[in-house]
Amino acid sequence: MVKAIVGANWGDEGKGKITDMLSKEADIIIRFQGGSNAGHTIINDYGKFALHLLPSGVFYGHTTSIIGNGVALNIPYLFNEIKSIMDRGVPAPKIMVSDRAQILMPYHILFDQYEEERLGGKSFGSTKSGIAPFYSDKYAKIGFQVSELFDDELLKEKISRVCQQKNVILKYLYKKPELDENELYETLVEYRKMVEPYVADVAAFLHQAIKDGKNILLEGQLGALKDPDFGIYPMVTSSSTLAAYGAIGAGIPPYEIKEVVTVVKAYSSAVGAGEFVSEIFGEEADELRRRGGDGGEYGATTGRPRRMGWFDAVATRYGCRMQGATTVALTVLDVLGYLDEIPVCVGYELNGEVIKDFPVTAKLAKCKPVYTVLKGWKTDIRGIKDYDQLPKECRDYIEFIEKEIGVKIGMVSNGPGRNDIILR
Ligand code: GDP
Repeated sequence: MVKAIVGANWGDEGKGKITDMLSKEADIIIRFQGGSNAGHTIINDYGKFALHLLPSGVFYGHTTSIIGNGVALNIPYLFNEIKSIMDRGVPAPKIMVSDRAQILMPYHILFDQYEEERLGGKSFGSTKSGIAPFYSDKYAKIGFQVSELFDDELLKEKISRVCQQKNVILKYLYKKPELDENELYETLVEYRKMVEPYVADVAAFLHQAIKDGKNILLEGQLGALKDPDFGIYPMVTSSSTLAAYGAIGAGIPPYEIKEVVTVVKAYSSAVGAGEFVSEIFGEEADELRRRGGDGGEYGATTGRPRRMGWFDAVATRYGCRMQGATTVALTVLDVLGYLDEIPVCVGYELNGEVIKDFPVTAKLAKCKPVYTVLKGWKTDIRGIKDYDQLPKECRDYIEFIEKEIGVKIGMVSNGPGRNDIILR
């Protein structure tokens, strides 16, 4: 059985926590898109971890963790991440890297930095992890597949061809030092050594695993609103964040994804630039940011303060629809316990009309939030295990959201820990 765990919002919904929790019953956990540009924070018996590339199931001895072909694979980063968790007492995880994954090259990171520099105030707010240049090269067919590391002749020829093209841009557009072919070759030989123990034909492995009835999780990065097709283009990420892409980024048939656990945050947060209708500012935002997540809403990769906002039912309903949500996990609900009243964005005002459907980016920029204000519950709900034990105002908030998004909320997360969960 294959289950996808994906985000309905702008990312940072708490997918890592939900994946870690569901991994208890899983055999295989797969990252299918994105790279080390976003982080998952996980708190378990070994401590608190910020993972960027490894799937959130690596903490269990019984799971196999897979980097699928859809991922932007930063090899030294992966290598160091494995080492860093083992240094903290986590048993050596079983890891597989798809032979069809492509390699995030050192120059992708440089190009990301140079381009943000060049754009200045008009930049995308990239994490400068090289993700956009990586995916551009992949689809321009000048990327390097892991399998190509093992063919020396092909590798040298390709390095030379790619350097020629990159160096023109480095010299004339960015006015930066050019790439050295030999140095790049040496780097890739190092990468080959690092990755070799993990390389496998992942699609074939998963084909058999599905036949054998294994429990498989697909772990998404970021959320529906950062999808390059259906998100707030161009302020999006460069690989699809949708569950449907899980089939491609892992190498399995689409009809095998039976469940789409869509993670929804009880309020809104976003990193980087882009339209954000229910955004709040000033002291109101600072307080939510300080109290949010686990120890404040600051980016797991960059440490940047996240932009904050009230729950956006228009965006989340759309996010759930594009994910194909079969069930929703509502997270960080405990954070809202300090509020007397909680606004929920239930519509957008656009040119004097109220709309309920999430529009294209150009229209989104003109939208103003329409709020319904719900009563707060003014207590700490951490530690509660039964839905019925939640204060009435809190259940009202959950049920209001459920009605707005039109998908059953099957799980409510009321704390960052593995066991802070209420199943309905
Ligand atoms: P991801 O990228 O979707 O995995 O999300 P992040 O890990 O970036 O952000 C979620 C943050 O919220 C992390 O710091 C989690 O530890 C924390 N978190 C997850 N669920 C809950 C919850 O129910 N309550 C609280 N207070 N924090 C949570």
